[in-house]
Amino acid sequence: MARKATRTTAVPKRTRKTKARKTAPQAVGAARKGKAAKLKPLKAQQQADVKAAHAELRPWTPAEITEAFRRFQIAKPEPKGELFYTNPYTLTVAVVLSAQATDAGVNKATPALFELADTPEKMLALGEDKVRDLIKTIGLFRTKAKNVIALSRMLIDEYGGDIPKSREALERLPGVGRKTANVVLNIAFGEPTIAVDTHLFRVGNRTGLAIGKTPLEVELKLEAAIPDAFKHHAHHWLILHGRYTCLARRPLCETCVIADLCRWPGKTVPVAA
Ligand code: SF4
Repeated sequence: MARKATRTTAVPKRTRKTKARKTAPQAVGAARKGKAAKLKPLKAQQQADVKAAHAELRPWTPAEITEAFRRFQIAKPEPKGELFYTNPYTLTVAVVLSAQATDAGVNKATPALFELADTPEKMLALGEDKVRDLIKTIGLFRTKAKNVIALSRMLIDEYGGDIPKSREALERLPGVGRKTANVVLNIAFGEPTIAVDTHLFRVGNRTGLAIGKTPLEVELKLEAAIPDAFKHHAHHWLILHGRYTCLARRPLCETCVIADLCRWPGKTVPVAA
């Protein structure tokens, strides 16, 4: 039996309106105007952090690292730390006091303290009780007061009252660890050290710039990767970046100058690195 031929009429395909994909600079531009920035759910952020921490991110090229620091430099040619101090000694004390505390919190207490004692001799004369009283708004103030007095005594006994210029000597002072020594060497003596605090640790791992399980690992990787021309200010640029842009819970990727270079999969702007 002959099959009845069926005529098929060509149905025009439904035309779908497809959105033109934005280029990376356009996407960042849109996000900066507040049109595209979207915070990933916490779970996605955590997964992105795990991915970053397991070194699954594509490493930065030397050209990309140079470009990132070139942009930091343009944005802030002379970055400065935010702790109040008047000389290398008060800087050392301020950094010791800032352990597990905010710079702003430390700055509320130190002007009155340094007004009375801006040398190890004056600090010893002030005494532990008075120091403790003056810094009682800062976390761990009892231990810190003890350390300030002990380090002042050691400075007088062993270093003629001066702050030593070597990492080994600095790290011998009570309350001074590698991070504090790096800050003092950098700010007081102009050495190109990189002090890895909680902000640098996060930025290094999150961006993929320096992935490491410990602050020391991150520090050594940053030291090896950052070109010498940028090393002196690198620590401040990265701290300020972590403190004001690459925030822990809600990074402001939409205002970030390195958004197109950053490898973090949890970015809040749709820009692939
Ligand atoms: S794009 Fe910038 S702010 Fe966002 S995660 Fe990367 S470095 Fe941090």
